[in-house]
Amino acid sequence: MNASPSLSCIMANVVDTKLYDILGVSPSASENDLKKAYRKLAKEYHPDKNPNAGDKFKEISFAYEVLTNPEKKELGLFGFMGGHSRSRNGGRRRGEDMVHPLKVSLEDLYNGKTTKLQLSKNVLCSTCNGQGGKTGAVQKCTACRGRGMRIMIRQLGPGMVQQMQSVCTDCNGEGEVISEKDRCRKCEGKKVVKEVKILEVHVDKGMKHGQKITFGGEADQAPGQEPGDILLVLQEKEHETFKRDAHDLHMTHKIGLVEALCGFQFTLKHLDGRQIVVKYPPGKVIEPGSIRVVRGEGMPQYRNPFEKGDLYIKFDVLFPDNNWINPEKLAELEDLLPSRAEPPIISADAEEVDLQDYDMSQGSSGGHRREAYNDSSDDESGPHGPGVQCAHQ
Ligand SMILES: [Zn+2]
Ligand SMILES: [Zn+2]
Repeated sequence: MNASPSLSCIMANVVDTKLYDILGVSPSASENDLKKAYRKLAKEYHPDKNPNAGDKFKEISFAYEVLTNPEKKELGLFGFMGGHSRSRNGGRRRGEDMVHPLKVSLEDLYNGKTTKLQLSKNVLCSTCNGQGGKTGAVQKCTACRGRGMRIMIRQLGPGMVQQMQSVCTDCNGEGEVISEKDRCRKCEGKKVVKEVKILEVHVDKGMKHGQKITFGGEADQAPGQEPGDILLVLQEKEHETFKRDAHDLHMTHKIGLVEALCGFQFTLKHLDGRQIVVKYPPGKVIEPGSIRVVRGEGMPQYRNPFEKGDLYIKFDVLFPDNNWINPEKLAELEDLLPSRAEPPIISADAEEVDLQDYDMSQGSSGGHRREAYNDSSDDESGPHGPGVQCAHQ
């Protein structure tokens, strides 16, 4: 099969901030922060306490496990949930599931998408049928009598012995050995070989962040066991216009003062490429920061894609700059605007103060006037910078 550019190998696709989002912490969170966040959420969503939480608990555990394990964090490739192996095949051992993140855009989740995924996995060697050598070449390990473990007994004192169990070094715990000459050439006696596998992944309309797509029995094969599943965990990428909240979409739109007071229309490119026109009639006012809703323009519902959520638009109202109008003209404007409140009654001993411009990014001076004070001494303090006084002036 030709590897077209649409084939993406996510084996090396590393952790993404979404795992941090699941735990509600920032990517700079310390191990301790992660632990705290995990404990809190795990308590809340534990299936014993919260049977309706669905996969939330698993998601939380998964995120925590990956983020606190440096190896997994680096590789993004790991076995997961191997512990609760359910055997589908009458007591046969089941291999670990493999979990991979799959990054998808909001457009993909809105429209649905079929993508191909290339991965490398162990499959049973076809040359030796997963035996590692010719039939009969496999011998039970004599050192451990096929158990893979050896028990050593150490005398600690009179009548006291300690029993220690360790992995058999002759067979590396396999319980069987194949002599060099009988080994399968293809797999070198390992019984499995690496194979590149291409999976066709269907991302359905309305799927959500954290949702899993399962490929049953597609994880690594090993002799004598049933392979686990490959689980792809959807990782929704940030969108520059929309933020998703379940079935709804949220966005912010900037309008000018004239639009806020006199009505407007604007166009918007939706996630399926449609251009939609949003209209607001003259005579209706948009207050700064207020929200309006477009029904039915949110995300499609999973498995019911004709039902859609809503689109919430928050309006930022941009006011004009200083000196946008000749002050003489303001009287005309004032005539048009709603009238002022009654003027205040000012007593004779009232003190008039100055209202100055203030840059919010500079923060408050905290009630001190230090900055002004230091400004005047800056020239003299030279290289010491603000706040440091020179002793020898
Ligand atoms: Zn082989
Ligand atoms: Zn052995």
